[in-house]
Amino acid sequence: MHRGAVVEINLDNLSYNLDLIKGRIIDRPIFPVVKADAYGHGAVEVSRRLIHCGIGTLAVAYISEAIELRKSGINNPVIVLFDPEISEDILKYGLIPVINSMRSAKVLSALAIKQGREIGVHVNVDSGMGRLGLNSEDIKCELTGIAALKGIRITGLMSHFSDADLADRTLAAGQIKRFSEIRAYLQEKGIKPVCHIANSAAIMTLPESYLDAVRPGLLLYGCNPYSSVKVKPLMSIKTQLLAVRKVKKGMSVSYGRTFITMRDSLVGVLPIGYADGFIRAASNNAEVIVRGKRVPVIGRVCMDLTMVDLTDVEDIKESDEVVIVGSQGEEFISVEELASNAGTIAYEVFTSIGLRNRRVYIGNN
Ligand SMILES: *Cc1c(COP(=O)(O)O)cnc(C)c1O
Repeated sequence: MHRGAVVEINLDNLSYNLDLIKGRIIDRPIFPVVKADAYGHGAVEVSRRLIHCGIGTLAVAYISEAIELRKSGINNPVIVLFDPEISEDILKYGLIPVINSMRSAKVLSALAIKQGREIGVHVNVDSGMGRLGLNSEDIKCELTGIAALKGIRITGLMSHFSDADLADRTLAAGQIKRFSEIRAYLQEKGIKPVCHIANSAAIMTLPESYLDAVRPGLLLYGCNPYSSVKVKPLMSIKTQLLAVRKVKKGMSVSYGRTFITMRDSLVGVLPIGYADGFIRAASNNAEVIVRGKRVPVIGRVCMDLTMVDLTDVEDIKESDEVVIVGSQGEEFISVEELASNAGTIAYEVFTSIGLRNRRVYIGNN
């Protein structure tokens, strides 16, 4: 038996979600974020489908992720959002680095001059995220300095919202204002970079943030906690019963005896645990679907195993399919539901389960 889950990815739903975003932002470029293996959906497969649907530029977190795309034959422009390593790989693989400091701008400039090349870069300005990007007192002066460096050319300017869900509009508005001022300053100097700040939440709720391009992640993967617009989830997470056991009333289940049976029970054991990304916080705190019925996770989630209460389900067989996320019969469990039960966010469920389990792809290829 395979450990863990089978993670099914529906690429047709990716195309659907992309179309939906296109419909909102009209004619602007979309830079899909495929970092962390496309949020656990598989960066290569996801990127191929996006390119097939007309996407030009992709965004990843680190150079190693961009190289993986190149090695699988993807030659589209790739923005590298976070990698501080300004290495020759940027030039070798033709990547678009995001510049977060004067220091890295200078290193890159020297490298480019040495190779007799000019490299297009996107500069990140910290408009309020407090993570990376230019944040000196005088960002404008620093930008002018970067613009003057030989061997690099500012082709893009980016920033990032500190509220992933943009619940507080005044903060977001302040960030857009600061970012727009810097944009206007560069334009006065005759520098016209592609300006982008909008993440998924902004695409759904903040049209004034669209500027020249948008950078969706979560929405593409079929999660929209921000508005009533329905995107379609790509990921289903399924496994099989490993064992079905009769357990007498009053017995404890799993570590720490956090669950005691209140009746003679039928307990199902699943071959998935926190080592497979089924987070331990789901202990006594999540449901799965078996034979079209929701059943609760009981006791602590273990490293490789998780128990569920099957007492109310009829005709159970060992090896029955168990749906952790997705639909079976009339029932449906979303990634958001599992995340909120376990006290986390969809992003973490996607990456923890998506990255550690066997993936299969469905949809027209
Ligand atoms: C992850 C990330 C995004 C995408 O965010 P979503 O909330 O998934 O849309 C966009 N920009 C940057 C800089 C990011 O790190």
